[in-house]
Amino acid sequence: MLINAAGPLAGLWKQARAAREAVGAETLWQGTAMAHIVVLGAGIGGISMTYELRTVVGADDRITLINNNPYFQFTPSNPWVGVGWRTKQDIVVELAPLMAKFGIDFIAQAAKRLHPTENRLELADGRFIDYDYLAIASGPELAFDEVAGLGPDGHTESVCTVDHATKAAVAWEAFCKDPGPIVVGAVQGASCYGPAYEYAMIMDKELRRRKIRDRVPMTFVTAEPYIGHLGLGGVGDTKSLLESELRQRHIRWITNAKVDKVEVGRMHVTELGDDGVEKKKHELAFKYSMMLPAFRGIAAIRGLEGLVNPRGFVIVDKHQRNARYPNVFGVGVCIAIAPLEQTPVATGVPKTGYMIESMVSAATRNIASLLTGQEPSSVPTWNAFCLADFGDRGVAFIAQPQNPPRNVNWSSEGKWVHYAKVAFEKYFLHKVRKGQSEPYYEKTIMSLLSLHKLKEPAA
Ligand SMILES: Cc1cc2nc3c(=O)[nH]c(=O)nc-3n(C[C@H](O)[C@H](O)[C@H](O)COP(=O)(O)OP(=O)(O)OC[C@H]3O[C@@H](n4cnc5c(N)ncnc54)[C@H](O)[C@@H]3O)c2cc1C
Repeated sequence: MLINAAGPLAGLWKQARAAREAVGAETLWQGTAMAHIVVLGAGIGGISMTYELRTVVGADDRITLINNNPYFQFTPSNPWVGVGWRTKQDIVVELAPLMAKFGIDFIAQAAKRLHPTENRLELADGRFIDYDYLAIASGPELAFDEVAGLGPDGHTESVCTVDHATKAAVAWEAFCKDPGPIVVGAVQGASCYGPAYEYAMIMDKELRRRKIRDRVPMTFVTAEPYIGHLGLGGVGDTKSLLESELRQRHIRWITNAKVDKVEVGRMHVTELGDDGVEKKKHELAFKYSMMLPAFRGIAAIRGLEGLVNPRGFVIVDKHQRNARYPNVFGVGVCIAIAPLEQTPVATGVPKTGYMIESMVSAATRNIASLLTGQEPSSVPTWNAFCLADFGDRGVAFIAQPQNPPRNVNWSSEGKWVHYAKVAFEKYFLHKVRKGQSEPYYEKTIMSLLSLHKLKEPAA
């Protein structure tokens, strides 16, 4: 069954079919007649990959989506769940009925271990799944254990997953009945800063709505060398924009911050100077805290020589393909990207939604090329287009490419960002339910903004 076969990839698919019929079955991986493509992880990267793949493979090819949860969750809405503006039900989509409708095999199981030399994936229930091609889209493992007392099993909340955010919302309600100081931010080694700013501002907005903001001193604690760095060296004027937002909302901040440990109601922080030398120790009392952790690759792939880096992130080339295991691709937060620059406290590069979709487009086309016996040639732009919601307004930025020096380095703020983010949430969930990856109108709008997912082939 073909989804979206009228899309621009349909031509590629027809080519693939013709070439494969012409050369016969033996040219494919493991000599199978038709390919079995496994997508590991059903987040923004994995679901987009699955839908795009449907546009390039034939009726006899199999796509299997494997996810440790039975549902897709729209992660960007988790900060809203954390203050009760959304519930889990609002932002998750059950995958089994949907995948059955679209002819995609779905397995709701955690991957236990990848065996890339055997082209098989071992699942937690003991099953082994063989593949011809594997797209790893497993997102991050959340490294709360790297800071004593950090995380939902310790003394701080998290909005990284919808279940964490649901727990954070319960704690939030209790906190609002008996408010006190808040500490919010991102610890050393974190690579995702946008949601920390979002959650800080959203909490501020909600506290004002409840008319208890005056009882809540707030401190933003971040590994970034300056506010608005975002792991990206800043984009446009994010430094001034975010400093201004924090100032207007009476949120103090500590940058170059390393969280030493968290105890019940108390965070121990070392602030470094720009020279990397200790500047000050802070003991921050809190009644509510949400801190984003550092990320690492999931356990199922960590330590696989040649496949992942020392932190377990998938090593990919410019085609999103792993060199040691050329039938394995990586998309999304799970891939390795070197830090942009050395900062006094370690910071990582974020992998944002549009950037991830550009990885997906390239990986899909490159798998399609391999199916026709051609070499991969599609290169993602890794352009970043981000909307950070602050509850009533927000900050948007475009970074082309994501890492400086950039051709486009733009940021802006206003009420429109809040409405755009709400619209984007509805739109993305609609696409997931409809089995679409990038409808033509989305492509048109993005083209008007000069945002492209793939690099033009070199002349
Ligand atoms: C709170 C938050 C808000 C964000 N907001 C934005 C935003 O507004 N805009 C933006 O551009 N970016 C945002 N990001 C960054 C990025 O877009 C998201 O992190 C995005 O969800 C990453 O997609 P992914 O597919 O790479 O990983 P994930 O969404 O994490 O998906 C990985 C999937 O793999 C599954 N999985 C994990 N381990 C296993 C296993 N062993 N076996 C099987 N399945 C497994 C997970 O359950 C999950 O479904 C945000 C990130 C966070 C954490």
